Order: sequence, then C-alpha cells, then structure tokens
Amino acid sequence: MIKSENIMGILQPPVPETDEAPENDVTNNTITLPLWGRLHFVRDSQGQLFVSGVVAYWMFGTFSTIFVLLHPAYEDGHVSLPVVYGFYAVSGLCLLSLMRASLTNPGRIPSYDFSKHAETGWTLCQRCNRMRPPRSHHCRRCGQCVMRMDHHCPWINNCVGEDNHFAFVQLLVYAFLLGFYSFILLMCHFWVFPKCNSCNRDAIYIKHGIWFMYVDFLLALNIMFMMGVMVTQQHFHLIINRTTIETMLKPPKAKEITVRQTYTAYRELCGRGLPLFWWLPIGRRRPLLPTSHSQNV
Ligand SMILES: [Zn+2]
Ligand SMILES: [Zn+2]
Repeated sequence: MIKSENIMGILQPPVPETDEAPENDVTNNTITLPLWGRLHFVRDSQGQLFVSGVVAYWMFGTFSTIFVLLHPAYEDGHVSLPVVYGFYAVSGLCLLSLMRASLTNPGRIPSYDFSKHAETGWTLCQRCNRMRPPRSHHCRRCGQCVMRMDHHCPWINNCVGEDNHFAFVQLLVYAFLLGFYSFILLMCHFWVFPKCNSCNRDAIYIKHGIWFMYVDFLLALNIMFMMGVMVTQQHFHLIINRTTIETMLKPPKAKEITVRQTYTAYRELCGRGLPLFWWLPIGRRRPLLPTSHSQNV
C-alpha cells in the first residue's frame, strides 16, 4: 500500500489536477442554468424562504436609498458622483457575495476514494458512507458532508464551510458597510440636506418618501448591529482557529485558546493570491493546503 504524503503531521488528500468539478461531483443540490452553468442550490423550502427575505431586504434598502435619497441629493448638488458610485459598488458587492456564499458548494468531500488515504482523525460518515477529513460534519439540511463546516446558515440557505467561508465573511463585511453607508446618508437626509428641488414630487416613492426613509433607517440600524456582532465573532473564531460548530460542541477553556497571526488566518480563509483580491467576490478561490484542513480539536 502506498502511504499518502503527510506534511507537518497533517494528512494531505490527493488534489485533483484540474480546477473543474468532475462530472460525478453533481449532488442532489446541483442545478444547471443557461449561461450560469452548474450551481449549488439547496432544496430546502424554509431556507429558500429565508434567503428570499434577505434578497427583499437588500432590494428595499438599496432601491429606497437610491431613488428617494441619493439621486435627488445628487441632482440638487448635495452629494458628488463618487458618493453615488460608492453606494452602487458596496451594494453590488454585497449582492455578489450573497450569491457566492449561497450558490457555492460549501465543501463537498471529493468523489475520489479517500478511504485508502484514511489515517487517524478521519471518520466514516454513516449517512454518506464516505471517509471524510477531520473537522467535517454532515449537514441534514444540505444532505451532504461539509469539509471544515462552520455552521448551517438559513439566511443564505447553505452551509458555511471550507469552500464558501470566505464569501460568507465578505457578505458580513459588505452588509455592514452597506448599512453604515445608508445610515450616514440617512443622517444627512434627515439633518443636513434641504428638501429636494429637482425630484418628481408626484412620484409615489417621493410622496411617501419619509416612510421609506423611516423603514430604511430601522433596516440600516439592524443590519449594522447584527453584522457588527457577526464580523467580530467570525474574526475571533478565525484567529483562534475554531469553527462555530466546534465552539458550540465544546466551548474552549481560556488556557486552550491560542491566537494566531491575523494574516495567517485570513490567508487560510481566502486562499492563495494577492491580499488586494481577498475582498472581491469574483474569481476562483485557490485553497491554501494543508492548513485549510488542519485539525484543531
Ligand atoms: Zn455525510
Ligand atoms: Zn447545511
């Protein structure tokens, strides 16, 4: 039997030569759309309802800010063009990272035979009947094992794991920034900008604009608070190299906590490539092995 390569005491699974998913990597959650190709879409009606709510939240927040506040303020000369484009950019990046986190397989165990590479720490999933590396868990909602599973998030209708954790963190950051951006604009709208001159006062969204702005204000406050808490929690977990599920199953004692370098933690999360591109929810993530499969507990 050929012994598999073991670097730093961590088992290395065989890495496929190609970035393309092989044909037999199709799961029950795989859908194929024209132009988009193959996507991961979890068939869970409750999760689909939750993610639809998130998209509706984004649409209301974005469109009410643009049409009731930003465009009239720009036409009246209260804000400059970079402020308008800045809002478009943050809002677009927020939606892109939501799609990326939701429509990416969170970390499927590859279909090649891992069992012959199994060593201590590898376990057999009773449901998938497949060997899986340490830190993998089976998710009932997704119906699959997920490598380095963090948790199942109903708001994105997907698990957060090895292959989409970076997109999830991007989503938290962009959602926070979008809430913060809207909050600042709303404060200016309420306290600084005079009433709009150039806007069409007959338009229904301008006529009832104040109610759009009140709701927008509550949404912005809520998302800033929620995302602020989540980003802090995710950052803390990243630097101590633990997942949410690991902390829930076995909360660490203070003396067990070791803090690693922030750069190392984010490089493992975002993969190889320039740090400048770590925050762009486009392009393919190239995992940084073997640390991304390292065992913590
Ligand atoms: Zn499984
Ligand atoms: Zn899941």
